[in-house]
Amino acid sequence: MFKPLLSLTGGLIATVAVGIAQAKPLSQEDLSVAEVLRDRALASSNAYSIVESLTVEVGPRRAGTEGDQRAVAWAQEKMKALGFDRVYTEQINVPRWTRGHAHAQVTSPFPQPLVVSSLGYSVATPAGGLTAEIIEFPDVEALQQASEKQVEGKIAFINKRMEKARTGEGYGPAVQGRSKGMRAAAEKGAVALLLRSVGTDSDRFAHTGMMSINAIENPVPALALSAPDANLLEAMLKRGKPVQVKLDIDNQRHTDGPSFNVIGEITGREKPEEVMIIGAHLDSWDEGTGALDDGAGVAIVMETARLIAELPERPRRTLRVVLFGAEEIGLVGAKQYVDAHLHELDNIVAVSESDFGAGKVWRFDTRLPESKFDIADQMMQLLAPLGIERGNNTSYGGPDSSVFVARGVPAFGLYQDGTDYFDYHHTPNDTLDKVDPENLRQNVAAWVVMSFLTTEMEGNLGRVPTSVK
Ligand SMILES: [Zn+2]
Repeated sequence: MFKPLLSLTGGLIATVAVGIAQAKPLSQEDLSVAEVLRDRALASSNAYSIVESLTVEVGPRRAGTEGDQRAVAWAQEKMKALGFDRVYTEQINVPRWTRGHAHAQVTSPFPQPLVVSSLGYSVATPAGGLTAEIIEFPDVEALQQASEKQVEGKIAFINKRMEKARTGEGYGPAVQGRSKGMRAAAEKGAVALLLRSVGTDSDRFAHTGMMSINAIENPVPALALSAPDANLLEAMLKRGKPVQVKLDIDNQRHTDGPSFNVIGEITGREKPEEVMIIGAHLDSWDEGTGALDDGAGVAIVMETARLIAELPERPRRTLRVVLFGAEEIGLVGAKQYVDAHLHELDNIVAVSESDFGAGKVWRFDTRLPESKFDIADQMMQLLAPLGIERGNNTSYGGPDSSVFVARGVPAFGLYQDGTDYFDYHHTPNDTLDKVDPENLRQNVAAWVVMSFLTTEMEGNLGRVPTSVK
């Protein structure tokens, strides 16, 4: 096969495709450049250096905290050092909360300590703690259907296990207990919520995470239990005696405060106003160093842009890296971003986010008008050798991207292997050693193919009806 060269000094060398029967949306030249970029990504360890830098030099960075502020400064500095054309921030408004201590212990019939973590924005217990009998439910729906008489004055214990899967599809059903459990417990008159961690490990770490907190009249303390501790309570309850648990939690809610989306651009040479957004979220939970969630994603999209910035000329349109703030507490940064950018939504040609850890990409999903499937097929020529298969056309492009998708913006989803992701997710164990440098290179290789071709292609991707499910 004829393989055009990429010149670092003389611009992209034009090539002439001879004898092509039907016009394809992506030119042979574009595909050749993308192939060179892909292979450079596979040879670069820069993404790993970026996630290492973020976890070592910043570490935990929950929205609205001092760590978050340092992350915002770090991201701007890093983008400038990587050669972005424009680096700037946009302020967002975030609810703030301080995590204090969280202690739990069984007081009877078999006294022993439990490993727990406050769910995000949980209220404190009264000073000195509270002690009550626990009542077990298989899932949040069972709690919602229970009578107040059954639940009143007790600690509701939701004991739903999460299934492990490469797609992470066990998360959706399991996370219902975390998002809605506290509200249900409060409405039924429970004094607190204990939730089996939403995770797939059997480590003695609890998985924190956000819950719905708006418009709850009398919120109650809410804690995640490590999986082995949930097993312990389950086994105690099987013995038929009432199980009393003491909780002592000290958290504090504060007034809202500022955080920032951090944005870096590689400015398009022909249509700078047309933008592809590739994103990740900068905030993390506070107990680990946020390596998988979402330091890896931050590194993948930053390195993708750096590789494209290294080309002798800019792509046709703008590549915009958005590091969203406050994703973990409810897509806060993405929602405020879209609200502030309604005027340019029609110019956002596509969106995608990396936010599922650091496993290998194995599937390429899209959300495109049918007339544009050709483009994805052509991208697949370069993705398939990375071990990636073509997926579906119902991608939301990642959590923050979903806010754009809801308004018709086309999306790409490079789906990672998430088999182990929920072993570490939102725990103190989300640390750099879980990031495999080789897998990270493969991710960047896939991202750079997709991002370069989308910013360089002729024409655009149109809009996708929001009715597509
Ligand atoms: Zn995340």
